[in-house]
Amino acid sequence: MTANSDPSGDALQISGYRAPWRLGRNTFITATIAATLVWFTRQFVIEGWLVPVRVSGASMAPSLLGEHYQIECVECGFEFVVANSEPPRTGFVRCPNCSSEGNAFAPSTVRRGDRVWIEKWPLLFRSPRRWEAVVVDDPDGAERFVVIRVVGLPGETVQIIDGDVRVNGHTVPRSLGRQRQMAWVVNDDRYRRTLAGHAVSRWRPARPDSRWHIVPHGFEIANPKDQPDRVDWLVYQHVAAVTGSLGKPVENVVLDDIALNQTARRTLHTVSDLALSGHCQTSGVGQLMVRHETGNGVRLWTFDFSSHEVTLRSQAEVLGSAAFPRQPFRFRIGSCDGEAGLWIDDQVVLVHPFAPGEAPGGGTSRPFALGSRALQATMGELCIERDTYVTVDSPRPVEGSWQLGDDEFFLLGDNSPVSHDSRHWSNPVRRRHVRGIARRRASSSVFGNR
Ligand SMILES: [Zn+2]
Repeated sequence: MTANSDPSGDALQISGYRAPWRLGRNTFITATIAATLVWFTRQFVIEGWLVPVRVSGASMAPSLLGEHYQIECVECGFEFVVANSEPPRTGFVRCPNCSSEGNAFAPSTVRRGDRVWIEKWPLLFRSPRRWEAVVVDDPDGAERFVVIRVVGLPGETVQIIDGDVRVNGHTVPRSLGRQRQMAWVVNDDRYRRTLAGHAVSRWRPARPDSRWHIVPHGFEIANPKDQPDRVDWLVYQHVAAVTGSLGKPVENVVLDDIALNQTARRTLHTVSDLALSGHCQTSGVGQLMVRHETGNGVRLWTFDFSSHEVTLRSQAEVLGSAAFPRQPFRFRIGSCDGEAGLWIDDQVVLVHPFAPGEAPGGGTSRPFALGSRALQATMGELCIERDTYVTVDSPRPVEGSWQLGDDEFFLLGDNSPVSHDSRHWSNPVRRRHVRGIARRRASSSVFGNR
């Protein structure tokens, strides 16, 4: 195993170490046993325990980071990272949260890549599972390991259509934890731009006489006793990049732009798999609504605080309902992997699979809105994330369909536009090439202000 500093790939760096060694019989026996244990542990149990194993490339971001620079936006305070392999050409970096281009890039300290364990023992008893991050020998024959995610299993047909992976013709839902690992922040409302001394949020009341008002880290609405049936809406309005801090925001759909990849020049794609999360605290017995619009329809989530039942509708049709808790809660609502879903305090409450052809396509610049009827509410820490968009035109064009053999796996990096993986490798990855499961060590850096 050799140290590797190839910035374009997704290699792991492995440092050397010296085993303790002393003269004398007892010491010799002790050292021999210790060395054997270390060898056995590294061979069959876990690697990265004594010898640090670090990610060196950008392919598995955002779940695993290679060498990078950390930047705090001068206008909104959001922290984000730029890959060491992809520093900006212009000397300025655009903030992925507020789109400010006022961040001068001064490459001072390069932060090291995440440390990972390579767990080997589970694969003594089972095969790698879908969506697991694993470590494999480089299929192109380089003297290095590659950390990468399992997407297709032996015998399956894998397709990439509109940024989604389909296996044997169907999307395969991921757990909430996996969705979060692979999600990119679109807008975190805790970090707002400041213009002329005022914090500017992308969430705006829909009408001038709205009862919603902005507070630090959120929005509040009082209980309107005079108009109990009126619904007040607070709308998220997405904007594209602005030119300079005085430039005008341009309303736009959510794209698969990635601040980490500063030098990747490519066509951007509209992303329709989005999720809204936040904290909800209410009093009264009114209703809270979350309107989620995708390219081909609107889904309305209605939380009724008299019955504590939440209902999902598409136009007038009820798609499902479920109970929700009475105490303040954190919620997550979105569409991903062919499903619309609601999670509360990290527990799934209601998931509705899209019918064939109903999956979200296209996009809108106003994907989410919050409505309140006869309710006193505080909505805080509103954050919109997008799913990874799997590309077939970057880093180089591919056909988008693969039939796997009986012992072949299909592997993708999470940072799709720059990752070299099964889309491009000339050799298949077989079971014997998988070294172990990659686990991010807790001491590693945390990506973004989340
Ligand atoms: Zn910013």
